[in-house]
This record gives sequence, C-alpha cells and structure tokens, in this order.
Amino acid sequence: MKLTPDMLRQMVRMAVRTRPDEIDCQECFEELDRFAELHLAGKSPEEALPLVQDHLKRCSDCRDEFEALLDALRATSAAA
Ligand SMILES: [Zn+2]
Repeated sequence: MKLTPDMLRQMVRMAVRTRPDEIDCQECFEELDRFAELHLAGKSPEEALPLVQDHLKRCSDCRDEFEALLDALRATSAAA
C-alpha cells in the first residue's frame, strides 16, 4: 500500500488533534452561519452540528465570532 499526500495530511491532522472528531477554527467558521441560523430558528444546532457546539465550548475566539454573527442575524431579521 502506498501513502498518498492526502493520507499523510489526514494522519498529521489526526495526530495534531487531541481528539479525532474535533474540528478546528476554520471548519467551525465554515459551519458557523448554519449553526447560528438553526439557533435563531429555535432548532437544536447542538444536535445537528455537535462538532461546532463542541468547538464553541472550548474556543473563545469562535464564541465571540458566533455572538457577533447572532447579533448581525438578529439585526437583519428585525429590519426585514
Ligand atoms: Zn475556534
């Protein structure tokens, strides 16, 4: 079996993470607007996107980003 660059990258990512199912800030940010929309819709974003929820619990940077996004979305829907 030959290791491809993709597989190597995958292995490095697994090694860097403390848990294999953790996401990083970039991945969190990519899902953040969906997470915020679910939150505002009164659905359960922590069930639909548990990894984002998990990341927000541990990362204050992304939590700030999330709060700012919520404020922006609220302002938008209030104006509409
Ligand atoms: Zn983060």
